[in-house]
Amino acid sequence: MPGNSGFGTKTGAVPAPTVPGAHRRAGRATSVGRGWAYTPRPVSDTPAREVCYRCHKPQPMCLCANMPSVDNRTRVLVLQHPRERRHPIGTARLAQLGLRNVRVEVAWNAGAREEQAPAWLPADAALLYPAANARDLSELIDAEKPKNLVVLDGTWHTARTLYRDKLWLQRLPHYRFSPEKPSRYRLRREPHRDYVSTIEAIVEALRVLEPETEGLEALLGAFDAMIDAQARYIGSDIGVKRLRRRRPEAERRMPRALVDGFERLVVLYAESLRPNAGQARELVQLTAMVLEGGACFEGFTRPASGLPAVPLLQHMLLAEGDFERSSELPALARDFEAFVQASGPRPVLCAWNQSTLDLLAPLLPAAAAGLCLKSAYRAVYGADAAGLDAVVAKLGLQLPAPTVRGRAAQRLASAVAVARHMHARTRQSHAATPAAEPAPSASFDAV
Ligand SMILES: [Zn+2]
Repeated sequence: MPGNSGFGTKTGAVPAPTVPGAHRRAGRATSVGRGWAYTPRPVSDTPAREVCYRCHKPQPMCLCANMPSVDNRTRVLVLQHPRERRHPIGTARLAQLGLRNVRVEVAWNAGAREEQAPAWLPADAALLYPAANARDLSELIDAEKPKNLVVLDGTWHTARTLYRDKLWLQRLPHYRFSPEKPSRYRLRREPHRDYVSTIEAIVEALRVLEPETEGLEALLGAFDAMIDAQARYIGSDIGVKRLRRRRPEAERRMPRALVDGFERLVVLYAESLRPNAGQARELVQLTAMVLEGGACFEGFTRPASGLPAVPLLQHMLLAEGDFERSSELPALARDFEAFVQASGPRPVLCAWNQSTLDLLAPLLPAAAAGLCLKSAYRAVYGADAAGLDAVVAKLGLQLPAPTVRGRAAQRLASAVAVARHMHARTRQSHAATPAAEPAPSASFDAV
């Protein structure tokens, strides 16, 4: 709708005051009538996020759990300006998710004059548009109520353009409504105070046309949640950006994966042996722990050169019996892959020693791109820390108890504890950042 749709008030209606705090809720507001342009400008140093395939929002902001399924009687036909499609979720998408009786059509040939109504348009369709000749929906008796209602989705400007160029729109019966209150998500530079977002316009119209229909409030609630989540998202990114300016040089070297990829980290530890001086090391035991949740993996394999000699086995705190259920390398790799895949999307492997990643790289391609915790630790805390045990002692870390055998349990636990500690440190720093009004650099997209 015009922009968010613009619905004028009745002639002579007194514009309601702007809702205090609305700007904050909407993040840094948006521009004129952007159909709710709550899409933040991409922050270049922010890694790609998992996106919900259904609502198209980043997973932490997924709306699906609270999305109602409104059984609306009046069919809503959203005619969307092509530019609106660029938004990961416009309110048209919200309508698609929340309404059962809805259809979204993109006006591909926007700008072209169009006499002929499209084939999808029902003969009895009406248009929700605040033109001068529009009737107020509240004045209609039941028999007059439209069964198919076209709603324009675009900025105020693009919606007006659609209306101007699609001559068939102008021939439809026009309806408007009088908002009970101004948009709760007031945009900063809306042309008029009483314009509401497209989804709000749809809900308002349905409330008048079919007041008995349930779930409309919940649909607005989902919209609320989206705006809130967006504001938080932007606020947090600002927090990171501001923090980065203030953090000491060393701390800025913290790998991104330890800052905001925590839930994807899988810590590895491997035991190996070198058959003879100068020969490559051979894997003996592979262990892993998912940082978040603590799920563990353990697998044994018999090196081509034979089992480790007894003194080495004892050093590893292992026994021959531990190899009774050993696997060939390819099978071990497959088992590990399955474990990692189950841990979540786009896992990041890490290990205290780079040598562990190097050893596993031929077997696990993801290890080649893995994160060396020791390097990360030294980058952040300085090079004074010697070994993993010394670091754990120095920091006084509590160790988890991974369900793996041998020395690996302690080694793996130590690496996990250090990784958690480093992540917690970044979290604390972030939490200390004032939750300020989002800065201009993260503004919502402008038209
Ligand atoms: Zn979702």
